[in-house]
Amino acid sequence: MNALVVGGAGYIGSHCVRQLSAAGHRPVVLDNLVYGHRGAVAPDVPFHEADLGDEAAVRAVLTRERIELVMHFAAYCYVGESVTDPLKYYLNNVGATLHLLKAMLDAGVRKFVFSSTCATYGMPAALPLVETMPQHPINPYGQTKLDVENILKALAAAHGLSFAALRYFNAAGAAEDGAIGEDHDPETHLIPLAIDAALGRRPPLRLFGADYPTPDGTCLRDYVHVDDLSRAHIAVFGRLATPGTGLFYNLGTGRPSSNREVIRAVERIAGRKVPLVAALRRAGDPPALYADSTLAQRELGWKIKFPDIESIIATAWQWHSTHPHGYGDRKPKP
Ligand code: UDP
Repeated sequence: MNALVVGGAGYIGSHCVRQLSAAGHRPVVLDNLVYGHRGAVAPDVPFHEADLGDEAAVRAVLTRERIELVMHFAAYCYVGESVTDPLKYYLNNVGATLHLLKAMLDAGVRKFVFSSTCATYGMPAALPLVETMPQHPINPYGQTKLDVENILKALAAAHGLSFAALRYFNAAGAAEDGAIGEDHDPETHLIPLAIDAALGRRPPLRLFGADYPTPDGTCLRDYVHVDDLSRAHIAVFGRLATPGTGLFYNLGTGRPSSNREVIRAVERIAGRKVPLVAALRRAGDPPALYADSTLAQRELGWKIKFPDIESIIATAWQWHSTHPHGYGDRKPKP
């Protein structure tokens, strides 16, 4: 499959590019390099530096590269920022995505794999989350992802677009060979911050809330290895053959870890303490989120290679401890 990976220089996109190559597909990357890293993509992968909202540029790439399917990872993903700057999120995550979709339809490309999120569910009605549960996002980030899911349904009905919306839980970890990994700027995620705190590269980790109604009082999350996520994107290809297909899958391990359990696992792997300070709950954090991914496992044959938090953190540790400055290309953000 000739697959255009939009946002292929980002965290999950870049891992997916490598998995595509490993599976014998031909990835082509389109990325504007605002948050992405050129160094995250191998030099032999065709790379187009362009914005997904630039319809003419995207159309030209789709045609020239004979693209059959588009995978879309290029979204802003900071929940807190989406609350303070919702326009930025709607303009990019929804607005620019509409242009991408328009360019695809114009070019006759009708297969689409979309990075959605468990944040579309909002406060879970019950746990574990299954795909048919109500979706009521509690922040603009989750809302933008749900908006795109709904747009995709309309395009499937009207234009025969076939799509899969993959609702990720907490993506974590790094490539097993240590070649690529997570490099967010700013970094807001628990695992990289805990690792950096253990290494003394950052201030002590602020633990947001220890008074949740959970066994140890800290939030429960479902961490899923970025390469497991990537493999699900490829496993879905075979189900997009029929025009107008719309698929929705949760991608998580179904094994929640509390924030304290994550910190203890980092300490075991790092062989040192994670300096901690107690902090108030972070606004918009549900106490617990974890997936029922039975559907993806049954329908896609999706197999989770990293089912436990230690094996996921071990790969993250390998990357972060050997890449103190990530890809070494930090730049000012718009
Ligand atoms: N968290 C924390 N301190 C931090 C960053 C995150 O206590 O500096 C907590 C956060 O409140 C949540 C969990 O770690 O309960 C996972 O947060 P993360 O931002 O990694 O992912 P999210 O679940 O928000 O997508």
